[in-house]
Amino acid sequence: MSDVDSSSLKVDTLCIHAGQEPDASSGAVMAPIVLSSTFAQDGPGVYKQYDYSRAGNPTRTALEGCLAALEGASHAIAFGSGCAATMAMLLTLKSGDHVLVGDDVYGGTFRIFDKVMKQFGIDATFIDMSDPARVTAALRPSSRLIWMETPSNPMMKIFDIAAIAEIARKAKLPLVVDNTFATPILQQPLALGATAVVHSTTKYINGHSDVVGGAIMTRDGELAERLHFIQKAAGAVPSPFDCYLVLRGVKTLAVRMERHVATARKVAERLTLHPQVARVYYPGLPDHPGHALASKQMSGPGGMLSFELRGGLPAATAFLKSLRIFACAESLGGVESLAEHPAIMTHASLPAETRAQLGIGDGLLRLSLGIESADDLWVDLERGFAAALATK
Ligand SMILES: *Cc1c(COP(=O)(O)O)cnc(C)c1O
Repeated sequence: MSDVDSSSLKVDTLCIHAGQEPDASSGAVMAPIVLSSTFAQDGPGVYKQYDYSRAGNPTRTALEGCLAALEGASHAIAFGSGCAATMAMLLTLKSGDHVLVGDDVYGGTFRIFDKVMKQFGIDATFIDMSDPARVTAALRPSSRLIWMETPSNPMMKIFDIAAIAEIARKAKLPLVVDNTFATPILQQPLALGATAVVHSTTKYINGHSDVVGGAIMTRDGELAERLHFIQKAAGAVPSPFDCYLVLRGVKTLAVRMERHVATARKVAERLTLHPQVARVYYPGLPDHPGHALASKQMSGPGGMLSFELRGGLPAATAFLKSLRIFACAESLGGVESLAEHPAIMTHASLPAETRAQLGIGDGLLRLSLGIESADDLWVDLERGFAAALATK
């Protein structure tokens, strides 16, 4: 890869090769896991690339190189979790600053704004960004950042990245897009004008539900420098072993996404026909309000969907308890299918009235479609419907 211009390569190739070269001393094809916390110096202050593993580590460098290439960024800064990446981004703010946040964000992200940043005098306004004019209207003189997730979680709303990036550019504010749901395979926010992309690499990027991690990618050299400083100074770094796991997992990202999308499409279409389903939220369905926009800014509608099951909480609970292939669990983006109840699980940190406004009710279920046989998954869901019907 060293003498190949990564911008000439497709994302499928970058997943496997970017940031990685056979190890100079051994020829090892996979990046070695360098566990050393410290690195010998030729003399005081005279070191090669690394001095201390919090500041920099070769396995982490390989991962950061790969993630930067995938998002078309010049820099990636890796963290110990997606929330740590979010926190690092927000540590670029100061007391008195205001942030505009898409409503319907990941529950943990809401909690950071609501319970952590508030005590430092950083104020957040949550708005439905489906209409970009609302973003302009909500700007304040003290606004310093726009934060969004698209598709949103769990309602799968689609926000116009290019239009909101243009509003951000005019207001001289950075736009940060959490691209965890779409992944760089399906959506490239930096190419659409976003300043930075945040990932929970815990999800699709790693894809095997065996590591927690996060990262920020940007083309802005000044922002990257600040984030590298925060990474080193605040210290929420991923372990070399975790970096290795993500590097290993990301190699199959492009193939996995193809399958996640194909299965989610099939399941979404079948759900729309089911008498026990009141509504399906999936951007791949033609009647989804964000369908046209999703078709424009994404190369596929993703592997996540939500649906409203008739029968309220008893039906939803019975449904989840009866599944045998889907695990009833939080998180998403792994090879195994997961089902969950947002109101009780992932979005419990939202106030009840906010959940109600967003439409996160007692019958709402969210699915992360894995890469098992779509037919087997449907049989499993039918088990759920039968159990739900029996609660009547
Ligand atoms: C999981 C998730 C996060 C938080 O990441 P962690 O790795 O769990 O800290 C942030 N954003 C989205 C969209 C997520 O799904």
